[in-house]
Amino acid sequence: MKLVFEKSRPGRRASALPRVELPAPEVPDGLRRARPPRLPELSEPEVVRHFTELTTRNYGIDTGFYPLGSCTMKYNPRVNERVVALPGFRDLHPLQGEDGAQGALELMWRLQEILAEVAGLPAVSLQPAAGSQGELTGLFLMRAHFAARGEGEQRDTVITADTAHGTNPASVAMAGYRLAKAETDARGNLDVEHLRELVSERTAGLMLTNPSTLGLFDEHIEEVAQIFHDAGALLYYDGANLNAVCGISRPGDMGFDIVHYNLHKTFSQPHGGGGPGGGPVAVRAELEPYLPVPAVARDGDRFRLDFDRPQSIGKVRGFYGPFGVFVRSYAYIRSYGAQLREMSEVAVLNANYLLARLRDVYELPFDRLCMHEFVLSARGLKRAHGVTALDVAKRLMDFGFHPPTIYFPLIVPEALMIEPTETETKETLDAFADALIAIAREAGERPEELKGAPHGRPVGRLDEVKAAKRAIVKYGFDEHPDLAAGPAAAVEAPKGV
Ligand SMILES: *Cc1c(COP(=O)(O)O)cnc(C)c1O
Repeated sequence: MKLVFEKSRPGRRASALPRVELPAPEVPDGLRRARPPRLPELSEPEVVRHFTELTTRNYGIDTGFYPLGSCTMKYNPRVNERVVALPGFRDLHPLQGEDGAQGALELMWRLQEILAEVAGLPAVSLQPAAGSQGELTGLFLMRAHFAARGEGEQRDTVITADTAHGTNPASVAMAGYRLAKAETDARGNLDVEHLRELVSERTAGLMLTNPSTLGLFDEHIEEVAQIFHDAGALLYYDGANLNAVCGISRPGDMGFDIVHYNLHKTFSQPHGGGGPGGGPVAVRAELEPYLPVPAVARDGDRFRLDFDRPQSIGKVRGFYGPFGVFVRSYAYIRSYGAQLREMSEVAVLNANYLLARLRDVYELPFDRLCMHEFVLSARGLKRAHGVTALDVAKRLMDFGFHPPTIYFPLIVPEALMIEPTETETKETLDAFADALIAIAREAGERPEELKGAPHGRPVGRLDEVKAAKRAIVKYGFDEHPDLAAGPAAAVEAPKGV
């Protein structure tokens, strides 16, 4: 497919505008362009065809199964979009006064209440823009808590699991804490004995995903919480895997003190292409005074923004948080109503069904029932045929599926991390399992075919080493004489696109 710049022809236009008769604006010489901008010049139908064709090259949940582990790529119901496009929500200005925004404030208040119930913790801030920002916010809350107790200097270390998402250690470093890493035991739980050695009067807290990124619920979570609380430390719950436990078990009841939600994962919202996210945090009552401002408060029938939190860590995001995400998540939750736990039950059932179909074909490093996702290993295929998790993932594209997450969590070699979500049918799950089984068979019969996959997609296998060492991130205008009005822009044009 040609780039829009290659389709460009000088002087071609979608429509002609009359000449401007006003005097030209005064632009200081130093700010004037030396030459016109290099914009593509095309007719209107060409523009429409170009971008329409591009959309057909895209792969998303609306076109197929997307079992990207840890990302919870569930279907986004259209009713969410209908609701968020209601003029009262869509046209609201962030500086609108409270009187003119009662409906929006009520929605935020109701969402706070629901999230508090889901976590089993009383106080919620909707502000953080994503899970990762929720983590940073949570660690700042931890800091504020210890500073207020005069233990700010002493408690300088936060412990994360060796299965943690990369954002956990990154947030620990950004918040200015030292990092310590807890190990996973042979059953896929945190190694309790190792934890006891790690925890001391210098420990500020533990960050943990439960179920973990292995898709396993920690069987000793109450004991783990006790170890940290006995040492005066706090427990932070990375809520990326809440899709497994909503309405079934609550982080607050497990002993966690601070929780973040990934609204865009658990409660639906187009994400994955850099779309907006939502990462609210919930805390125990002792930590509420430190939450970001403002909170949404209710006085009888009226809703207002409450800025009266003198001990607050301050604002972590502009205005009041990602409002469109709140509306979609609220719509998703309300469409389940009191049956919200069905969401998690079906997500767990779907994952276990897939696991049962695949466990004899790929290696299963931790042999337990899974929660909403599970991790297999392609280690056996690598040993026997030289076929890696990457090859399996690339080959899945030829079968019409988005690959699962691979090489994560880091403690599983050749990891394939599969999360089907609750929104898929048995037929889809079977077709995906059939594809993975067929690929395992191919690995024995024609491994070379897997190494070159994908064969039927618009973009083939990249040379990853070259892509990293000689990254070409700029289009080569000089190769196209029609466009080369200016100085030659760097390097060569991408080939084969
Ligand atoms: C997605 C994810 C995060 C980060 O959340 P974002 O919303 O992407 O910032 C953190 N931890 C785990 C386990 C995740 O899957």
